[in-house]
Amino acid sequence: MGILYKVDPVAKNHDFKQKGPTCWYYVAKMMLKFHGLYDGEKKDEIYDEWKSLHVIRKIIFELKFREGDPYKLASIMAKLKIKLDKVDASLKKAINDKESDVTGAFVDELNEKIKQCGQKNADLTKAAAALDQLKEKGLSHRKLVLQTFVPSGKFKANVFSDNNVEKHLRTLGPLYVSGGLIRKESQEGLAADGATMVCAVTELNAESHHAVLLIGASGDVLFYIDPNKSDQVRQVSREILFKNVKRVKRNGNRIETLYPVCKTESEDRCMHCKERGAEI
Ligand SMILES: [Zn+2]
Repeated sequence: MGILYKVDPVAKNHDFKQKGPTCWYYVAKMMLKFHGLYDGEKKDEIYDEWKSLHVIRKIIFELKFREGDPYKLASIMAKLKIKLDKVDASLKKAINDKESDVTGAFVDELNEKIKQCGQKNADLTKAAAALDQLKEKGLSHRKLVLQTFVPSGKFKANVFSDNNVEKHLRTLGPLYVSGGLIRKESQEGLAADGATMVCAVTELNAESHHAVLLIGASGDVLFYIDPNKSDQVRQVSREILFKNVKRVKRNGNRIETLYPVCKTESEDRCMHCKERGAEI
């Protein structure tokens, strides 16, 4: 028996495609949504954390088109400084505008602005520190960024033997994997339910660098979601995917994964894995 999870797609307003070189961002978001940690509601504890990560993702995306190198740290830092200066300028303007009219309402307004400014400064300082790591493409750097910005996500990196991936999927839920995972050859069609689009991938580009979400395993077949088309389940042979997933050692059988820790110590599987997992 195998396991297959139902995972909601992301980037609905963008034809389910990731924006810019941010596969890691969308794969992380799918995992948080799966475990009920993020639903885009402002009341969520994680909302503000994710929002600051969103700002940084947007900056990287914009730089990709303006300067061609999304990981050029000096450019990103300059852009961050402009944002920071704008926040300071709006604060100074508020003080100058109301100089002769210091009322109770103004003091409240000013306090609110100072609070916002303090939050933005803290977010940007964190961003600048994490950005230094974004020049690197490894999973441990992505983990650092996610842990820095989204501590409530409790992201953890781990190393598994590829023979045991089904067992880990069953207990931990969908898993983030990365490597040469952009599809090269594939065939699309409708699944047996007549509604879900599936895509059988027969070749991956070993030279690429991409993150995907592993959502199922059955015998020699694995299932995953690519953030470039997150409304589609892709299937691929174990051999093809694992050949391209980043390994701890070249030719070794251990692969690196990332996931949010959801279950409590006393449980085998969290409620989301139980509710959203189908035996196949
Ligand atoms: Zn869960």
